[in-house]
Amino acid sequence: MQHVEVEPLPLERLGRLLAPERARRLMETGERARDLLRGRTVWNVNATAQGGGVAEMLQTLVAYGRGAGVDTRWSVLRGDSRFFAITKRLHNLLHGSPGDGGPLGEPEREHYERVLAGNLAAVRAEVDPGDVVLLHDPQTAGLAAGLRAAGAHVVWRCHIGSDARDDVSDQGWDFLRPYVEQADATVWSRRAYAPDWVDASTMRVIAPSIDPFTAKNLELDQDDVTGILLAAGLVTGRGDRPHIAFSRRDGSPDHLRHHEDLVLDGAPPPVGARLVVQVSRWDRLKDMAGVLRGFAEHATQLDDDVHLLLVGPDVSGVTDDPEGAEVLRECTALWEHLPEAARRRSHLVALPMDDVDENAIMVNALQRHAAVVVQKSIVEGFGLTVTEAMWKGTPVLASAVGGINDQIDGGVDGLLLADPLDLDAFASSLAVLLTHPTWAARLGAAGRERVRRQFLGDRHLSQYAEMFEALVAAPVR
Ligand code: UDP
Repeated sequence: MQHVEVEPLPLERLGRLLAPERARRLMETGERARDLLRGRTVWNVNATAQGGGVAEMLQTLVAYGRGAGVDTRWSVLRGDSRFFAITKRLHNLLHGSPGDGGPLGEPEREHYERVLAGNLAAVRAEVDPGDVVLLHDPQTAGLAAGLRAAGAHVVWRCHIGSDARDDVSDQGWDFLRPYVEQADATVWSRRAYAPDWVDASTMRVIAPSIDPFTAKNLELDQDDVTGILLAAGLVTGRGDRPHIAFSRRDGSPDHLRHHEDLVLDGAPPPVGARLVVQVSRWDRLKDMAGVLRGFAEHATQLDDDVHLLLVGPDVSGVTDDPEGAEVLRECTALWEHLPEAARRRSHLVALPMDDVDENAIMVNALQRHAAVVVQKSIVEGFGLTVTEAMWKGTPVLASAVGGINDQIDGGVDGLLLADPLDLDAFASSLAVLLTHPTWAARLGAAGRERVRRQFLGDRHLSQYAEMFEALVAAPVR
């Protein structure tokens, strides 16, 4: 197990963004949780310290938990490449996609359990009876029984899922069911994601949230935004590259590095271009390739200053996602075969993952600079990239799937794509947003208010506090 060190953050900071009554409730929640959990530790266990929505959320939830005076910690399990191939298979199956089509039989179960047995020994050495352990996603489900036997209150939180159940998703659930049933409680991003065998009396629906103060979301003015993009080499223009200072999450000052090769075609868009941006892991279900195809097929109908940026992590830095390199390769091959006019205006970007704060500030600047943020996922557990863009007031065009439906009311605070595979509809919605900037800005502004109402950390923390109360009060099974 690897421990992720997270500095505490005071709840007052979040309170400053809220109406007084809501801020007061947040402080009360903090006090209640501190009293309730005195003498106990709240553990989070997941599969990666960086990259993806779970790591993103843990950074801030753990920080606010600590800031509220609750001993909150975060550990990352260790696994080998076979383990992560199996868990990626599960991830795809739960999303209704066969993924690599590989088996999930006894040998896979044995390997999954063997890797988790090693992790269990490490985590049990630290967890005390009465502690609360939040296990995140399929990679950790197999730890539930062992941790309960150690006297911990165990919650399994599932951040993924698909609205419709079928034979494909059932295959994944059949594998996971014996582990999930060992947890004292479960948490789901949407009600529809929970299979019908999940105990309804201990199940909760808790939507994710974002933190407005992280490097990913903090306010940047237009000069900062262009400065960051120029310094990082994500856009070109204006002679010298500026020297950009930024604050790390621990408050320490630093400078953005100059990169030469983030835009893989070596020809970043000009600083004045209007950008259509999708930020995603290189996961097939995010359909980066479909975005590229849809844009390329219709690029000639869009104004010449519109460029597409497909932004994902540098795959060499991602250990828990074996599919990433392959998907990036497929996108690169597709890009190489585009007609020249479309190729010149489409760009694949690989952001370094060795520095989370720098990565976050680049994503922040891209989401702010974008004329439109798209998220053309085929399935989406929740879609924090949508929340992040909405918070920045950037107009969003996203597939009407999974958790995106909980965030966007089509035509009110963003645009929804009814069929994610309909490239014509995708391109025409994009064209409408680009040719009606005042209307698009109104959607963006409404998006920001939607996030303020529903997707900030105070709502999330208070749902956690309620769950902890119920867990700690329940008789030990
Ligand atoms: N992300 C990032 N850099 C990247 C790609 C993604 O920081 O190169 C972040 C993104 O900003 C978001 C998270 O990873 O915070 C992705 O979360 P989401 O819920 O959209 O999808 P997931 O990856 O969990 O399926």
